[in-house]
Amino acid sequence: MAATPRLCHSQLDWESKLTCRARPFRILLSGVGFLSRLTFTPVGGGREIGANAFLLSNGKLDVLLDCGLHPKKEGQASLPCLSLLTKAPEAVLISHGHVDHCGATPYLLKQFSSTTPYATCATLQIMDRMLHNSVSVMGAMALERGIKEYPLYAHTDVDYVMRRAYGIEFEREFAVTTDGSVRASFHPAGHVLGSAGILLRMAGHSLFYTGDICADDQELVNGLVLPNLRGNLDTLVIESTYGANGEADNATLHDEVDRFAAATRAVIERKGCALVPSFALGRTQEMLTIVARLQREKRLPEVPVYASGLGRAIYEVYAKNVGMLRPEADLRPLSEFGRIGDARDRKLLRDLVRKPAVVVATSGMMIENTPSALLAQEMVRQRRHGIFFVGYLDPDTLGYKLLHSAAGDALRFEYNGPLVTRKLDDIRQFNFSAHAPRKALCEVVARLDPKNVVFVHGDPEAVAWMHERCRYDRRAFAPCLGETVALES
Ligand SMILES: [Zn+2]
Ligand SMILES: [Zn+2]
Repeated sequence: MAATPRLCHSQLDWESKLTCRARPFRILLSGVGFLSRLTFTPVGGGREIGANAFLLSNGKLDVLLDCGLHPKKEGQASLPCLSLLTKAPEAVLISHGHVDHCGATPYLLKQFSSTTPYATCATLQIMDRMLHNSVSVMGAMALERGIKEYPLYAHTDVDYVMRRAYGIEFEREFAVTTDGSVRASFHPAGHVLGSAGILLRMAGHSLFYTGDICADDQELVNGLVLPNLRGNLDTLVIESTYGANGEADNATLHDEVDRFAAATRAVIERKGCALVPSFALGRTQEMLTIVARLQREKRLPEVPVYASGLGRAIYEVYAKNVGMLRPEADLRPLSEFGRIGDARDRKLLRDLVRKPAVVVATSGMMIENTPSALLAQEMVRQRRHGIFFVGYLDPDTLGYKLLHSAAGDALRFEYNGPLVTRKLDDIRQFNFSAHAPRKALCEVVARLDPKNVVFVHGDPEAVAWMHERCRYDRRAFAPCLGETVALES
């Protein structure tokens, strides 16, 4: 059944079309049937973690899967390559609320005001917070670092997206295009609250895009539920984040919680603070709940637990959607967790880390100037603390550099800030990832048994491993940015 539009068709001025460095590159498609064939083009997120955005076209209609911002780039360069879009997509379907999957949606709708966004209801609530926060962060970066292109969009552009967007429940089929020729449904992806794999059905072709997936149950979110396709899938588009990480295959949540509990307990017993840098969406809510459980089980002392701003706002969305979490999930009231306050106030941070505590703070990869970086700047000066990374660390980030540094090394935690010498020894990493390890990704390919499989959203070596090891004799593609592949049924 088709969903009812939420409202609003106010027109915004179209901005001049973007130009970006990447040139469109098209694989030669055989024969005359091109216009009626289904094609797939990464507009971002091909052979890279990237600004995920994937264009699906049957020659007549264009649909975009995700529209994110590149986590490692700044300004216009962080956008997907929207100049690859030759016309307004009818729809943009958003898999979940992480910025690398939804962060460019307001910009897209500034370009193409007629495009209709779709996401699950919980993802829309999360996007509202994440996108408004992005406007604020970009505004601050414009002031602090003189990035003139920021902000890429305004709060009013976010409001426009939210007014136009359709919130769709899981496993409910809806018409994506006005002519009804493309239908879609969202399926639980197990990654964060509201995260979805997207099943598209159109004449002669079915396609399933995983978005980000986690096969196993987490503390709050149940593992993924694949659509029941009875081996009848033409194309699977699957993420490859952990394609190059064989170690993650052996990590279990249970073991990691045990290791984390022991390490955190040791910090508290030596009167230190444990800093847990975490993504605002997903990891923060999971870690707060794990810490609260460990305290209830007396495996951690009853010290204060703090959380930073955006993580708290998203926690409220989790609390509103508690029926979508695991029935066993024990989501504590947000009031049980203290506020960090203004992380730029150094005296406040120094006071906060004076007494034993657990602090869950963004960003997970410890990008400079974020609360986790500013807290770490104070904490690395003393040996009693502990810094525990709990997710993926990109090698270019401060978090990765800090983890791989040694006591005595000097690092910079603020852009243009001072070099601070690390005295703290206890800096380590735990595997609490919300991404499926590669053996689980391969199982998804085997279970859905598609005719075509397209590997996206992973570093080049991760995508290459998946392309080589998870194709199982089917047609397999690993297109780079701007490369179009034809999908045969
Ligand atoms: Zn994600
Ligand atoms: Zn992702």
